[in-house]
Amino acid sequence: MSSEATTPYREQLAEAARFLRDHDDYLVVSHVTPDGDAVSSTLAAGLMLQQLGKRYVMINEGNSPRKFDYLSGYESIVNYSATAVDRTFANVISVDCADFKRVGTVSKLFADEVSLLNIDHHPTNDAFGSANLLRFDAAATAEILYDLACVIGARWTKELSDCIYTGLLTDTGGFRYANTTPKVLQIASEMLQYGVNGNELADHLLEKLSYSHVALLRKALTSLAFTDDKRIAWVRVSAADIEEAQASNEDLEGLVNYPRNIEGVEVGLLFKQVVPDRYKVSMRSAGLVDVSAIAKSFGGGGHVRAAGCTLVGELPEIVERVVTAVAKELS
Ligand code: 5GP
Ligand code: MN
Repeated sequence: MSSEATTPYREQLAEAARFLRDHDDYLVVSHVTPDGDAVSSTLAAGLMLQQLGKRYVMINEGNSPRKFDYLSGYESIVNYSATAVDRTFANVISVDCADFKRVGTVSKLFADEVSLLNIDHHPTNDAFGSANLLRFDAAATAEILYDLACVIGARWTKELSDCIYTGLLTDTGGFRYANTTPKVLQIASEMLQYGVNGNELADHLLEKLSYSHVALLRKALTSLAFTDDKRIAWVRVSAADIEEAQASNEDLEGLVNYPRNIEGVEVGLLFKQVVPDRYKVSMRSAGLVDVSAIAKSFGGGGHVRAAGCTLVGELPEIVERVVTAVAKELS
């Protein structure tokens, strides 16, 4: 049972604010292979702790995509895959993690009796924290951090505003997805008033394409395949393609939108080879199908329209399993 269902959001916010005020020496962590909302939320939580005069360390498993290096504190985020950390933390704030598994190996740094504040917007979140701040209709975890910043009376510096705006911008696909509510645009508008340069960020984060991305896109599109009724479409990228394009995770972002954006397609899929018999599957729905439920049935999770999971096996068999599951939901 999620705590969203049991505790009113206002009370969750008050408890989260107490969590920030009552402790010191925090670990802030987001999900493995962090994306825009993960990096923004990690940094926003850090900036709020800084304003409260607290000590904190930000550690994620995986590199923070380079394109977010304009965010204040970016260089301070520790990549646990590349850096040893030999201490534990009694107070942890997780942001944008749908379940405990999403924290990844950083969970090794949690003390035995850890106090854990779980801040997230994924509907599949299972309220794994000792305190939980969950709002499933929030477009981004950054939107929840905006609410929390208001409750603790944070100062709206350009640095904090950039984080909130970036999380909103990336998780709404540039204020275009169905999660772009009036509240999202109202917060974004407020952030612009605090000095965020919306045009510059949109150009930098959404318009510009890396060479590696375009190289991968060229390869991915040659693999484009459909079901007979053309309602499900998918592309794959092999580990060799990724290596040849010298692509990192951020260069893969957006590839799954190509199958999904095709007229008549209800679900678009991307099969990314991680190691020879291991594939990361990205799922995007035009709205009819809840892909988070499908991803969850394969051990993953996410949102109604954007979800993912990882499967082990040969590609043809994995494609068959996933496409069959999606087709079943569609029929
Ligand atoms: P993407 O396809 O961009 O990696 O992920 C889309 C959405 O699904 C994101 O919100 C992400 O957090 C979620 N997601 C992706 N992979 C997993 C997974 O393995 N487990 C869970 N719980 N969520 C995932
Ligand atoms: Mn998010």
